[in-house]
Amino acid sequence: MLPTIVLVGRPNVGKSTLFNRLTKSRDALVADLPGLTRDRHYGRGIGGDKPFLVVDTGGFEPTAESGILKEMARQTLLAIDEADVIIFLVDGRQGLTPQDKVIGDRLRKSQRPVLLAVNKTEGMQRAIVSAEFHELGLGDPLSISSAHGEGVRDLVELALEPFGEPEREEISNSDRVPMIAIVGRPNVGKSTLVNALLGEERVIAFDEPGTTRDSIHIDLERGGKHYTLIDTAGVRKRGRVFEAIEKFSVVKTMQAIEEANVAILVVDAQEGITEQDAHVAAYILDSGRALVVAINKWDGLKDDEKDWIKREIDRKLQFLDFAKFHYISALKNKGLAELFPSVDGAFKAAMAKLSTPQLTRVLIEATTQHQPPISKGIRPKLRYAHQGGSNPPIVIIHGNHVDGVKDSYKRFLEGTFRKVFQLTGTPLRVQFKQGN
Ligand code: GDP
Ligand code: GDP
Repeated sequence: MLPTIVLVGRPNVGKSTLFNRLTKSRDALVADLPGLTRDRHYGRGIGGDKPFLVVDTGGFEPTAESGILKEMARQTLLAIDEADVIIFLVDGRQGLTPQDKVIGDRLRKSQRPVLLAVNKTEGMQRAIVSAEFHELGLGDPLSISSAHGEGVRDLVELALEPFGEPEREEISNSDRVPMIAIVGRPNVGKSTLVNALLGEERVIAFDEPGTTRDSIHIDLERGGKHYTLIDTAGVRKRGRVFEAIEKFSVVKTMQAIEEANVAILVVDAQEGITEQDAHVAAYILDSGRALVVAINKWDGLKDDEKDWIKREIDRKLQFLDFAKFHYISALKNKGLAELFPSVDGAFKAAMAKLSTPQLTRVLIEATTQHQPPISKGIRPKLRYAHQGGSNPPIVIIHGNHVDGVKDSYKRFLEGTFRKVFQLTGTPLRVQFKQGN
């Protein structure tokens, strides 16, 4: 599992600024895709060689008693529970506030490692600014500036210090059993879907979750093929009954996506596409996992409602246009049979072997038909391409002046490779390398 860093603090201390900085290099991969939400709360980052997950808990109001704030407080507490490290952000310009003390108390009780970061300290006398925060009893305050990046690298290094470098497992074997994560925000019907899928199939094995952030793994056989479902909704076997026990957890969702080869993103057609749906979707794209989208609760919708949700999808989930969409009813068991062929297709695409001669031929044809635009007086020259990884497939293109390749041209090449190699259902990464 990847280490999880959770950002906690009252509103306006700079959590989302820090979040954006931590996830920026990854974000560049998915920058300016139409429909992609900018306001994200979970992402991946890399500190040195160590990948990590990061959760921005939003504006934590520990005293909120009802409504959306209460739900946020609940989610924050859950995230704290699941954190490997907490970064507690306070505002060095504003100084210590009563709200900070309340949050600090909670964090001290959490038994989790906490790093106290005093933000917005650019241009200030750091020792003086941070002195008053000792009172929180959370160790030495670290001065940072999220906006300017000062102290951020040291902070991340310190946060990740206890964690080793991950063993890099080369996921290239397409004979392996596909791992499928069933994910989505609360109440979209994930457990209903898992139960419906299991109701029909032969369940081979089942494990018990250790902690709340563990998902349940279920091995099953369908049409003579083996799959492992990673169930984030939480089902447990009681005799022949499968019963939902756990509810939504952001960290669990991210870990499950990381572990999977293919994610099935479940969305509620009766509710429309919410911000949280888009967050999960953006995370899947960021992780590079293959994807099948299940628009659930399709039963009982009138025609105009169906039109409405389809427009919603076009508008808000446009950046998932590489994936297959299914309109299903987990409750009425409709449309489920078609999910697995799409999972198979997405898995195959994610694991595709792309030979250097084939890739290079497609590259040369594409650049001949449509040359890379001139940038700063020079036309980038793209020479050959080879595969740099699987799940997602990575195509590495070598050439000269590759820094000048425009994003739109990169997308054109991505689209070309996708079409020629029939890579439906998987993100595809195109990277450039200067020289040979
Ligand atoms: P959040 O509510 O905790 O997520 O806070 P935001 O990241 O939205 O930041 C709140 C405000 O503080 C914004 O106006 C930011 O531009 C500003 N801010 C964030 N980090 C810094 C910093 O390092 N220095 C200064 N001067 N302002 C910052
Ligand atoms: P989860 O939180 O994503 O695991 O969602 P659940 O599986 O617990 O479902 C939430 C609610 O939606 C329950 O009341 C389900 O009965 C209902 N539900 C799930 N799938 C469908 C569906 O296909 N159609 C309709 N109408 N309701 C559904």
